[in-house]
Order: sequence, then C-alpha cells, then structure tokens
Amino acid sequence: MTLPKDTMNVERTDEEWRQVLTPEQYAVLRQQGTEPPFTGAYVDDHTPGVYACAGCGTELFHSDDKFDSGTGWPSFTRPVLDDNVGSREDSTHGMRRIEVVCKSCGGHLGHVFPDGPGPTGMRYCINSCSLQHVETSAK
Ligand code: FE
Repeated sequence: MTLPKDTMNVERTDEEWRQVLTPEQYAVLRQQGTEPPFTGAYVDDHTPGVYACAGCGTELFHSDDKFDSGTGWPSFTRPVLDDNVGSREDSTHGMRRIEVVCKSCGGHLGHVFPDGPGPTGMRYCINSCSLQHVETSAK
C-alpha cells in the first residue's frame, strides 16, 4: 500500500505525521480513512483557486474542475496536474476501487470512479480533510 520511494519527495516518519496533522487528517491521509459524508469543509465550497494536499502542500485539484456530485465529498473531474496525483488498486472493504494519492507524500486522498461528468467522465471523490484551499493557481 505504499508508493515506490523514488516517486515521493516528501517523506516523514509516522511520528512526524502525527505531529503535523490533525487526528482527522492523519486518519485519512496516513491510514486510508474516510471522513463521514457531508461533514467536510469543502463539500459545498466554490471558492476559486487550488486545493492543495493538507499533508505537504502539493497542488492537487482546481476549483474549475469541482462539481456537485451529491455524494457528500468534494468531487473533481481531474487533477490540476496529472503528475501530482497517483492512483493504485484498492481491494479493501470488499470493493475493487481505485485509490487516489498525493504523489509527493503518498497521502491517501480518496478514490476515483468512471461515472463523472464531462469533459473527462471521471469522478475524483476526495476527502475534505486531505485538502487545503489556496488562492494561487497552477493553471
Ligand atoms: Fe501530499
């Protein structure tokens, strides 16, 4: 369940992650947890800008690609840069899903499903607490 070391440029020990993240962020980013639906700060957020990784600050998603999925989690049609977001198979909880991770720190973000709107048809279903909204844009 870990990315190859050479793909990550932000590495911290487990103890360091516990110190820099809130308990909720740690449970999602470092333990593949899922926040309860409709509880996250960014579910209905439409502020223009970029959503960066709450663990390492890497820019992950753009507000232009955010849509209301009705699931209770922030949803995007694509990453802001393909290079910043990784994916891997997740067969936990009796489901076959594609997990989405921050490529820089390996943090768990959520899952991606092929049932999103245009232009990509993809739905990146992301935990609010794995994100931090920033005003700057890589677009
Ligand atoms: Fe990260």
